Amino acid sequence: MKIAIIGSGIAGLTASHLLQKTGHEVHLFESQTKIGMSAHTIDIASPHNGLSVCGDVPSRMFNGALWPSVLELYQSLGLKITTIDATQSYRRGDEISALQFQMPFQWTNGILKTAGSSLLALAHSVGVGEAASVGSLSRDFGKQRPISEQRAKFLSEINRLRDQGLRDLRTLGPDMPFQEYLDRNRFSSEFCDTFLFPALSSTVCTCSHEAISNYPAVILLEAMQHITGAQPLCRVEQGARLVSERLTENVNVKLATPVRDVEQGRDSVTLTATGKRFAYDHVIIATQANQAASVCLRLPDFEASILKGFQYEDVDVVVHTDDRFMPLRKNQWSVFNFSASSQNHESMCTVWMNQFHTNWQDEAMTQPIFQTIRPIHDVESGKMIRKAKLQRPLVDCRSWNLWQQLRKIHRQPNRRIWFCGSYAMPGIPLLESAVESAKEISNAISNVQEQP
Ligand SMILES: Cc1cc2nc3c(=O)[nH]c(=O)nc-3n(C[C@H](O)[C@H](O)[C@H](O)COP(=O)(O)OP(=O)(O)OC[C@H]3O[C@@H](n4cnc5c(N)ncnc54)[C@H](O)[C@@H]3O)c2cc1C
Repeated sequence: MKIAIIGSGIAGLTASHLLQKTGHEVHLFESQTKIGMSAHTIDIASPHNGLSVCGDVPSRMFNGALWPSVLELYQSLGLKITTIDATQSYRRGDEISALQFQMPFQWTNGILKTAGSSLLALAHSVGVGEAASVGSLSRDFGKQRPISEQRAKFLSEINRLRDQGLRDLRTLGPDMPFQEYLDRNRFSSEFCDTFLFPALSSTVCTCSHEAISNYPAVILLEAMQHITGAQPLCRVEQGARLVSERLTENVNVKLATPVRDVEQGRDSVTLTATGKRFAYDHVIIATQANQAASVCLRLPDFEASILKGFQYEDVDVVVHTDDRFMPLRKNQWSVFNFSASSQNHESMCTVWMNQFHTNWQDEAMTQPIFQTIRPIHDVESGKMIRKAKLQRPLVDCRSWNLWQQLRKIHRQPNRRIWFCGSYAMPGIPLLESAVESAKEISNAISNVQEQP
């Protein structure tokens, strides 16, 4: 069959790869001049030898527990996976000392099963038992003093959240917002504002603290079992550009080609781009949901309203050399440095790119380069390298209905237009949900073909 895919984020790339592998003719349309997945990847010249190093923006991470399909896909592409030294520092306002932790947190082994509902498709078994120790110091922070009371308190609250969260997953309904869960179970605002919300808001979910409050508790509790488990955080050593290259092998890629309209006929779909019309057997719209409505101008009202139901927040990411974003004491600099505002409920995370990309050290990139996600203050003049404005889908208790309706749309007979992306699967919109969505749609198209 002849299949068009619109959008070359990880979802569109994965769908292209899977469908071309099963013998279909795939055309991949991307409005930007570069493949979407690696569109913001940057090259920075080393002041030492002029050679350039390559850094992903945003710095995307995964582990084998929460991202099994991503890991499987990357391994099947022969990509080298490397673990990240996930040291973390946390501070609030102008605090001089930062609290430091090392991921993954340590847990004793045991077998318990979580009880996520089948709708969630989240009910993986997790190898988790009694939590013995939670976290360890990455460096001997504050050598003169014993472990701070604050740190001990945070560790005990992480421990409780994880332990109790695992038990509550069996009974919690899908509709309890995360903030309500935290309030009911009396987690302290100090722990939430300085540690928990910054960690979720500027890395895992990249959205405001308010949006984190509204997440369904079950989704975050489930994800936390996997993120804080024994699996190390990883990245693709050669970065997103190589992922993009591998996934587009044998795919006909049309860059700088925004699709202006898609319309389903009886036996085909007509796609309009660069003023021309093309006919396909199937079209996969792998843009974000809020872009999909402008790609399909004549969608039935019901479908348009589902897509419009997915809400988004802007996410700024800046790459810079401004070390005011880092802990004041250099010996507390970690790979991930969280900083919460003391005035409002916002926070940011600054990734120390030289430590994140361990290969930069081989290239003698000695100048510290930082990447800040959701910056809460400006970068000092002259220290900005790159700014990117991204978007992230929001998830709240209304999302269940949208996910269900989307599934229903895809089950319609003679379906030829498909919606695919990280927003489309239940859970946190991550690389994993994008890959899962691409697998689901590719299978659905293959099944349509097999039907007599
Ligand atoms: C700051 C930040 C950090 C993140 N970190 C992580 C992480 O560490 N781990 C993780 O798993 N996830 C992370 N994520 C989430 C993850 O990056 C996304 O979930 C994923 O990249 C979304 O992929 P997608 O293919 O669904 O959509 P997108 O990547 O948004 O792709 C959609 C594509 O469609 C194209 N397009 C739009 N309109 C048209 C048109 N009319 N014609 C043609 N093309 C069009 C766009 O240009 C774009 O390339 C992060 C997200 C952000 C914002």
